Amino acid sequence: MFALITGAAGQDGWFLADQLLARGWRVRSTSLAESDFAPDHRARDGELGCLDVTDAALVTSTLEELRPDVIFHLAGLSSVGGSWARPADYLTANTVGTCTLLAAVNQLRTSGIDHPFIVNASSAEVFAEDAPLPFSETTPLNPLNPYGVSKVAAQFMLGAFRAQGLLGSNAILFNHESHLRPATFVTGKIVRGVARIHAGLADELVLGNLAARRDWLHASDVAAAMIAIADRRAAQDFVVASGVSRTVGDFVAAAFASVGIANWQDFIRTDPALLRATDAPELRGDSSLLTATTGWRPQRQFEEWVGEMVERAPLDD
Ligand code: GDP
Repeated sequence: MFALITGAAGQDGWFLADQLLARGWRVRSTSLAESDFAPDHRARDGELGCLDVTDAALVTSTLEELRPDVIFHLAGLSSVGGSWARPADYLTANTVGTCTLLAAVNQLRTSGIDHPFIVNASSAEVFAEDAPLPFSETTPLNPLNPYGVSKVAAQFMLGAFRAQGLLGSNAILFNHESHLRPATFVTGKIVRGVARIHAGLADELVLGNLAARRDWLHASDVAAAMIAIADRRAAQDFVVASGVSRTVGDFVAAAFASVGIANWQDFIRTDPALLRATDAPELRGDSSLLTATTGWRPQRQFEEWVGEMVERAPLDD
């Protein structure tokens, strides 16, 4: 089997390629520029390449040349907070990019050529925040930030092409983390702060909303879910979540506990400047459709992977 991964230079591309290569797949990992890939990525088996998914001619020629069996579409901009500063860029990268890719795949389909199955990485930010929890595939969509809007539009676009006969799924991913998370995400920030405090290099960690609840998964479990969807060629949408939500404070407590610090409150300062104007109080998903369809369940245990993130956190940024 041959997988094309778009936007592969980030966290999710790393775990996806790892698991696909371990199963004997051929993998082409692409990003806007080859220099986006970290040295670890270069050292690994698998092919690296450039692909701007908003470039229709390039997407078409790449698909015609490679003829992958599956496309894992991860390319896009991914910061919820950051999307307010560049809303049009988010629509271009996430919505126009997905649309361009889908149109190119659909062109193969209408030409009678076997077309790749697409797994489109979507996000829990698509849901209406005031909808009853947990969120499932039937929860109303009502995004409240440009990132969420861009993802909803991409999801609908896939649905529209699917109605034409294209095979693909939206994987609606809840927050998923690993040692590859940058400090722009709260988990990456927390584990760096805890590691520095534990090493005696800092004495406080400044955060915003500690009460927000998120359904955090490890990124390797999310990669396994996307592969399970591709394996089954299950052309429908799936929520990918752990089913458990924890507060940002719970995450902080677990990170400190992993290095033997119980009095975590003593090291935390909250700064109102870090609060968001709109911030979902709780995101929690129900993956029972995915579990029933593919057998997927998360394998990693929360405290264990949070501890691993702290252990692997860089001390110098
Ligand atoms: P998001 O859910 O995709 O926006 O992922 P983040 O990791 O950026 O944020 C998760 C939650 O942590 C949100 O509710 C934030 O408001 C909250 N949070 C609290 N303090 C911070 C902080 O210092 N940085 C970030 N990025 N988020 C924070």
